[in-house]
Amino acid sequence: MDLEFTDEQEMFRRSVRELFAREFGRDYVRGCDRDKRPPTEAFQALGALGYLGINIPQDYGGGGAGAVDVAILLEESGRGFLDLALWVFRVVSHGGHAVSAHGTPEQRERYLPKIAGGELSVCFALTEPESGSDAAALKTAAKPTGAGYEVTGQKIFCSGFKVSDFVLTATRTSTRERKHQGITNLFIPTGSPGLTATPLETLGHWPLGTTLLHFDQVEVPEDNRIGPQDGGWPLLTDMLEYERLCLSAARTGAAQAALDDTLDYVKQRHQFGQPIGKFQAISHKLADMQVMVDISRMLVYRYAHRLDKGVATARDAATLKLYAAESYKAVSDLGLQALGGYGYTMEYDLQRHFRESRLGTIGGGTSEIQRNIIAKTMGL
Ligand SMILES: Cc1cc2nc3c(=O)[nH]c(=O)nc-3n(C[C@H](O)[C@H](O)[C@H](O)COP(=O)(O)OP(=O)(O)OC[C@H]3O[C@@H](n4cnc5c(N)ncnc54)[C@H](O)[C@@H]3O)c2cc1C
Repeated sequence: MDLEFTDEQEMFRRSVRELFAREFGRDYVRGCDRDKRPPTEAFQALGALGYLGINIPQDYGGGGAGAVDVAILLEESGRGFLDLALWVFRVVSHGGHAVSAHGTPEQRERYLPKIAGGELSVCFALTEPESGSDAAALKTAAKPTGAGYEVTGQKIFCSGFKVSDFVLTATRTSTRERKHQGITNLFIPTGSPGLTATPLETLGHWPLGTTLLHFDQVEVPEDNRIGPQDGGWPLLTDMLEYERLCLSAARTGAAQAALDDTLDYVKQRHQFGQPIGKFQAISHKLADMQVMVDISRMLVYRYAHRLDKGVATARDAATLKLYAAESYKAVSDLGLQALGGYGYTMEYDLQRHFRESRLGTIGGGTSEIQRNIIAKTMGL
């Protein structure tokens, strides 16, 4: 395994980092978070630079890059602004990756150039009120009509719906002996008649928000189906594993930002006549935070490297998702404690990391489910 980056990759990392520092710095991030406003300008800037098509084949206007480059983009975006990174992740994963890997040539022509240019945004609806961790138990029905499908049902926690043109929706087209069969994935326009979204109040993820979706006899044309009818589960597992790379890279970047803020603070804040970072009780927290960020980063690039070589396993993905999410949560908690009362105020960003990091161990498969996946590979 080669953990060195090429000169081009180092340059790419620097340019994403500099873009955030120059154009979309702390005040911008805080403003979007406070006002629950999507970071549209930043998203468009990434699109104009061609970053949103990073993993799309060059024939379709993309960058044709592999998983390591995707991880660099997500890590640096997460370091600058996690919620923006989660928007980028959806476009890269549920858009670029899903269509490149599972779409027909006609669908690739139709969607990929627009995704690459930032003109088309995609979100994902898998979770339902009665099927969360048990995702394959989904019930939202897509009745074949001849010309396409008529979709009726409910999805919950569909995030980024308000900034999306399409929602990649997992539906049930038939009831089979095994719940993993009979699933079909549809690209549904977010403005479709019969589709309504109700925002949910949450602890974080405010700029993009999350929603409850109602599908009431929504008509979806046949050629909006991604992948085979009734055989959609493999696409979902592929996507969930790809998404684990994106989410973990973004959260590793965010954890680094939380660590950077904490380090600055403990060097400047004096109590008992010295910087608080000189107290071992504080410096050990920082050391623990550094170790967690370092290991998360190593796991991100180990997994990316394996994805590029075509040897990544579900266990690799689960290990990464579990560790990176739990680490971001722990780093944010330790950082907030090191800032004392100021960490609890809205004047500092540790409160945002503390809130945002709680989603990491829940969304995209909880930490318990990741442990189940790992334990299963151990014969348990
Ligand atoms: C802010 C937010 C954004 C989200 N965005 C999206 C999105 O865009 N698209 C989407 O499809 N979904 C999204 N989700 C949904 C998310 O993936 C689910 O919340 C998650 O998979 C857990 O499902 P659940 O909430 O129904 O919890 P449940 O499945 O009801 O689990 C409740 C608890 O039981 C535990 N548990 C359940 N089964 C087991 C088991 N077999 N072994 C051990 N423990 C178990 C869980 O780990 C958890 O602690 C989002 C969620 C949130 C909160």
